[in-house]
Amino acid sequence: MKLLGRRRSAGTDELLTCGCCARELPRTAVHELGGTPGVYVCRRCAAWMATRIGRK
Ligand SMILES: [Zn+2]
Repeated sequence: MKLLGRRRSAGTDELLTCGCCARELPRTAVHELGGTPGVYVCRRCAAWMATRIGRK
């Protein structure tokens, strides 16, 4: 007997919470922070951070 189609680890459908604005987004729409593994930020926040980091 096999149980198919009910696996919890959905892979690409997994939603991750942005550590900056707390929105839930698919894995493809977020970036993992290099210095902080396990923390993800959405594209918008990542772009904002990049702008900030670039302005030293
Ligand atoms: Zn965000």
